[in-house]
Amino acid sequence: MSDKEQARTGWPDVARAWGLELSAGQLAQFSAYEALLLEWNERISLTAIRAPEEIRVRHFLDSLACATATGPLDGRALIDVGSGAGFPGLPLKILYPGLRLTLVDSVGKKARFLEMVAAELGLRDVTVLAERAETLGQDAAHRERYDWAVARAVAELRVLVELLLPLCRVGGAALAQKGESAAEEMRAATGAIAALGGGAPRLSPVQLPGVAETHYLVVIDKRQPTDPRYPRRAGVPHKRPL
Ligand code: SAM
Repeated sequence: MSDKEQARTGWPDVARAWGLELSAGQLAQFSAYEALLLEWNERISLTAIRAPEEIRVRHFLDSLACATATGPLDGRALIDVGSGAGFPGLPLKILYPGLRLTLVDSVGKKARFLEMVAAELGLRDVTVLAERAETLGQDAAHRERYDWAVARAVAELRVLVELLLPLCRVGGAALAQKGESAAEEMRAATGAIAALGGGAPRLSPVQLPGVAETHYLVVIDKRQPTDPRYPRRAGVPHKRPL
């Protein structure tokens, strides 16, 4: 499908072209999510994107793009680090109701919003944690427990891998949603990825309808257990990237 054709097509059609089919029930869940996002955004700052069409493309569709890299996620354990208003975790949960989803954000009011959305949408098996990813990465209940650790717009890749890879089981993978700087960030993260037990990253482009810039999915397989020194304590990965 060309960009022009995509721009003329509704967002569920774009998802279908990616091989992701949404039922009427799932579309109703997305509508309810959109309404809650608009309503709560008036009270707490959740997203700078406020126009409904932009929410559908830049939040819902952009999040669903992850599924083109992960494949079906029913029965899988996925942790979304720095989930904010729920992206990409909640759209993936709507797409795959059997996903075992953990949403993490260090800001308490965002965590409360996420709990409320999960309850209102009737989503089961969603755990919300108001925590720092660095803390969870050293907690036996979370360390190396997930098939997928994902994040969008949380940190540059060499910092982000220290938050994500310790949470992945060996054989699992980290997925980072990135913008135009993806390839450059990948090069800068080479040493950090190796130190944390990751394999060579793979990059795949995502073109959203009506969005000029290309987005990228960076997937890093977890090959070896992460050295117990990592992640370092909260804030250190940002201050002194590996
Ligand atoms: N992922 C969402 C999205 O793409 O719309 C939110 C992105 S927002 C720019 C970054 C979020 O990451 C914020 O809500 C912030 O509180 C959270 N965050 C940043 N560092 C974190 C950390 N170390 N542990 C947990 N959450 C973190």
